Amino acid sequence: MKDCIFCKIVRNEIPSYTVYEDDIVKAFLDISQGTPGHTLVIPKKHIANIFDYDEELASEVFARIPKIARAVKASNPDIKGMNILNNNGQVAYQSVFHSHFHLIPRYTNNDDFKMIFKDNSKKYSPNQLKAIQESIEKHIGD
Ligand code: 5GP
Ligand code: ZN
Repeated sequence: MKDCIFCKIVRNEIPSYTVYEDDIVKAFLDISQGTPGHTLVIPKKHIANIFDYDEELASEVFARIPKIARAVKASNPDIKGMNILNNNGQVAYQSVFHSHFHLIPRYTNNDDFKMIFKDNSKKYSPNQLKAIQESIEKHIGD
């Protein structure tokens, strides 16, 4: 993709602080550094989001994430944990439409990363949950 910013990073047309690359993925520091060490893992092949992966590419990309995550964690003894985040679609805060996984090191409960989702469990009856389950289940393998 000619104008995709992450494809340009893959082609080294835009500089990046690359921490790992091979024939399948490139991992580089996110410019925003939400917390120190914030790293993006991207497939070198341009695909927009999670909905576009086939099983082969998913296997290849996901297989590489733990070793990159371990390296990020090992880079700083103050890193106590990590959030791995993947935004899909503008509504889900995706801003670069070349699929990527955020590795966000966590230092304390009070560092610069926050994630909020409500507990709506009391709003759902078993029947409602069953209906949701069935509507998802019937599309597996589409
Ligand atoms: P999204 O919001 O799509 O999940 O994440 C896109 C991420 O890409 C953002 O965290 C943003 O900081 C990062 N980003 C955008 N442009 C560049 C760039 O040119 N270089 C690097 N290293 N990161 C970028
Ligand atoms: Zn791209």
